[in-house]
Amino acid sequence: MNPIVYAIPVFFALIGLELWVAHRRRARAYDFADAVCSIGLGAMSQVSGIFSKLVVLAIYVAVFDHLRLFSLSAGSVAVWLAGLLLYDFLYYWHHRLGHEVGVLWAAHVVHHQSEEFNLSTALRQTSSGFLFGWVFYLPMALLGFPPLVFVAVGLIDLLYQYWIHTEQIGRLGWFDRVFASPSNHRVHHGVNDRYLDKNYGGILILWDRLFGTFADEDADEPVIYGTRSPLRRYDPVWSNLEVYAALARDAWRTRRWRDKLALWWKPPGWRPADLAAADPKPAFDPYARPKYAPRVARAVQIHVAVQFALLMLIGADCLARAEQLPLAWGLGYAAWAMLSLVALCAWLEGARHAPFLDLARLVAALLVLVLGGSWFGAGGGAALTAVAAAVVLASAGAAVAVAFAGARQQPAAAGES
Ligand SMILES: [Zn+2]
Ligand SMILES: [Zn+2]
Repeated sequence: MNPIVYAIPVFFALIGLELWVAHRRRARAYDFADAVCSIGLGAMSQVSGIFSKLVVLAIYVAVFDHLRLFSLSAGSVAVWLAGLLLYDFLYYWHHRLGHEVGVLWAAHVVHHQSEEFNLSTALRQTSSGFLFGWVFYLPMALLGFPPLVFVAVGLIDLLYQYWIHTEQIGRLGWFDRVFASPSNHRVHHGVNDRYLDKNYGGILILWDRLFGTFADEDADEPVIYGTRSPLRRYDPVWSNLEVYAALARDAWRTRRWRDKLALWWKPPGWRPADLAAADPKPAFDPYARPKYAPRVARAVQIHVAVQFALLMLIGADCLARAEQLPLAWGLGYAAWAMLSLVALCAWLEGARHAPFLDLARLVAALLVLVLGGSWFGAGGGAALTAVAAAVVLASAGAAVAVAFAGARQQPAAAGES
């Protein structure tokens, strides 16, 4: 089974702990809509990853089987330690180029779109990383690190980075100069001039000190989180597409062929001379922008909170079962879960179509239950199907009620924003 499924309760328990610590310090650590969006993007990345990871792993295994120079044993501790060290080194370059090359930034940007910084930000991961990410780790296959070692050290490197996404842990002395830590990773998420494009390390921050990309957190300059072209949306699909779309639009509009191609590998923010002249962008000022925070009615927030909690259970079920399901069921389940997330995020944006999207996905779930006779291929018989149908109908009733309640509250909410 997907090991991330076992990590999910730990993720949520630590978020609870972070909320409690922040509450005791009277600090504001979370924004509800932002956290829903970040956690949702993490779930989406995992669910889409069920399918995309198979391709990445297949390429790794093919290179390992046919082109490896040595045969390293998964039974040796030294191989595991060397594998973790090498993976972390390759991760540094993968991550650094993810910030320095336009098309790689298009994938990685998702992790940086949040204007908050807390444990939910760690879960905010891209769904398109598989497109080019695999290239960076092929040296491990060539050197003969077994696929099991590659997958496991990749997971260790990823899970390590969870705890460093918090403002509740301060400076840690020497640790901040050797390992990736909350302090030096806050810097990584900053858009302030002195913090931009620094501290790429996954486990070791020594790579940044070695290659000249290290910056220390300065107590006199609080980090401003986010990206230099703010997303200002909650939609998870658009989160994943925004930079690809901007690159494609600029490539279409710029005149010279050389520029049409260069856009994709130039650093993010680079613009061909003709576009820069036609549509100049003002100089970037991190202090001159309010955070994105559309106001929505309380009833909408409660509805989204309840439905999102259900969706997280469904997402975990999808991750746990998708690989055993027939492909059509697995794809259908994943697509339905993603549509649900899009609908919930539309509520949070205050979009007029949100109630209709929400009802559409609930009707789709009802059709699956009635026509398919089960909850996306789950066992449990008629009893589970009936319970699922009751929950879906109750959710639809709540969506209609909230749409009307929200519409009544709308003028007051709009006046506040
Ligand atoms: Zn990054
Ligand atoms: Zn991060």
